[in-house]
Amino acid sequence: MRALIVADVHSNLAALQAVLDDCARRGGFDRVWCLGDAVGYGPDPEECLSLLRGQGAAFVAGNHDLGVAGVVDLGDFNDAAAEACIWTAGRLAAGDIAFLSALPEVAHEDDFTLVHGSLRRPVWEYLVNEDAALATFRLMETRFCLVGHSHTPFVCRERGRGCEFEAFPEGEPVVFGVDRLILNPGSVGQPRDGDPRASYAVYDSDSGAITHSRAEYDIAATQARMRLAGLPEMLAERLSFGR
Ligand code: ZN
Repeated sequence: MRALIVADVHSNLAALQAVLDDCARRGGFDRVWCLGDAVGYGPDPEECLSLLRGQGAAFVAGNHDLGVAGVVDLGDFNDAAAEACIWTAGRLAAGDIAFLSALPEVAHEDDFTLVHGSLRRPVWEYLVNEDAALATFRLMETRFCLVGHSHTPFVCRERGRGCEFEAFPEGEPVVFGVDRLILNPGSVGQPRDGDPRASYAVYDSDSGAITHSRAEYDIAATQARMRLAGLPEMLAERLSFGR
């Protein structure tokens, strides 16, 4: 079984399509696991949701998904993010809003827990330091946990009572040993690790390994659609830099 793991697609259809095509060239996938923030920021919320739902993806709720659905207060977002949430809500049909508002905070697939932020605060916590990682390790009931939200790929390995963050190497399978791991595949639609290419991962149950990959996509096309939609300019600009 091969699972395509995507996080923070953020309504960027060109990036999502590039990931699906890239993954198909590298051995394909049987399932899709989406770690939240399918929508928000980008120009194609409806298309991204219907593409992911059409693949039968397993979803968990991201803060933007719930902001768009009106489940969390937009006062908790910065101005540009809130503006994009309002624009996105206006583009979605009632069925999509109902789908987003009903998303679970945590899901389990095989030996993986799926969550957007962390197990301590599923929708909002950025799992970027040892304190947050250890809290999630304490709450994990599976060997592996997949997170998004920070838009930064990493592997975090449990070591005794502590843990270590490592780079998630591109194209080199991370083979599972005895350690419990928290992994972030990076963001499809708005990378923030300085590499503007769409970021994703694939889990292969036969080899017991997970591989991080990047896919080039037409950034200018997404930016043009964002400007046409009147979305905040800084959200379009940052796609060029992966920041
Ligand atoms: Zn996000």
